[in-house]
Amino acid sequence: MAFEILHEDTRTRARLGRLATAHGSVDTPVFMDVGTLGTVKALEPRDLVELGTQVVLGNTYHLLLRPGPEIIAAAGGLHKFMRWDGPILTDSGGFQVFSLAKLRKMTEDGCLFNSHIDGREVFLGPRESMAMQKTLGSDIAMVFDECLPYPCDRDRAAKSVEQTLRWAELSKAQPHADGQQVFGIVQGGVYDELRRHCAERLVEIGFDGYAIGGISVGEPEEFMYKAVEASVPFLPREAPRYVMGLGVMHQMAECVARGVDMFDCVIPTRIARHGTAITRRGNVAIKAAKWAFDSSPVEEGCDCYCCRNFSRSYVRHLLNCDEILGLRLLTIHNVRALNRFMAEMRSAIADGTFADWKEQVRKDTTENE
Ligand SMILES: [Zn+2]
Repeated sequence: MAFEILHEDTRTRARLGRLATAHGSVDTPVFMDVGTLGTVKALEPRDLVELGTQVVLGNTYHLLLRPGPEIIAAAGGLHKFMRWDGPILTDSGGFQVFSLAKLRKMTEDGCLFNSHIDGREVFLGPRESMAMQKTLGSDIAMVFDECLPYPCDRDRAAKSVEQTLRWAELSKAQPHADGQQVFGIVQGGVYDELRRHCAERLVEIGFDGYAIGGISVGEPEEFMYKAVEASVPFLPREAPRYVMGLGVMHQMAECVARGVDMFDCVIPTRIARHGTAITRRGNVAIKAAKWAFDSSPVEEGCDCYCCRNFSRSYVRHLLNCDEILGLRLLTIHNVRALNRFMAEMRSAIADGTFADWKEQVRKDTTENE
């Protein structure tokens, strides 16, 4: 198996693992940075190495529309095109088809939609998605699925799960890039029995890893944990588990306590561009007037380039003047903050203090909100 479990926590379902991929191994639990269009916004690949980023995500939907498969194939795949030698995970594009594009028609074979850029008609289904992910040459490909909105009634959710399962089977049957792993996605909304059914059926089909999808789509926080609890017990112990679209510290810690190994989210790069710093003590609005004369770093004790060299006062000034360097420095900090957080989490699992650490994280990060 590509996934090795190094240590299991005795008080929770947390585990420490190592996932081998065609472009190197990944220490889990891991947070993965989103590089929507073949770049983690404002960062260079050498920054990502320095910041300790282990996996970069590519978005099949976005890369299919721009620059398109021909240009990426000519470059020899996404690793070579964007000059990132580490592991890449690509999503299937399903989520964007349902959230971004103007959906025209959904059939057994996939979705006909209008591009959100120029309105042109594009068809994306399991065959097209897996072909694009093969061209991208990602280390981990995701099956094409339907991500349900919240709320969603049970009948609609049940029908959608069957569609997702048919698409999962078809996705697995398509040709893949050399060494490319394929992950299935458990859907089912807030309905425990649908989650269980979906998980069990996916395990029968057999995947290298399993994602828990349809999480963090606007549902209350406790529903998120319920969805994880309804899925994890039916997934194999020896396969990695991935919650898509989640990047809030205490929420990731809660999911890890329930047996999750991998996360991704646009949060660190997106909120940096809005002037918000992620810290171990909660988010900080760096643009606020109260930091105008503050000579301390964005986060005391942080080892990132931004915090080693610049003051809150200076970063605030750059952001308020819309200087490119401001958003770059804050992006550097936010990416490092989450990578440091995950390293702290892995240490806590390794030395058996994870359960207490998790409670401390909740207090530290939510008290200032
Ligand atoms: Zn920093």
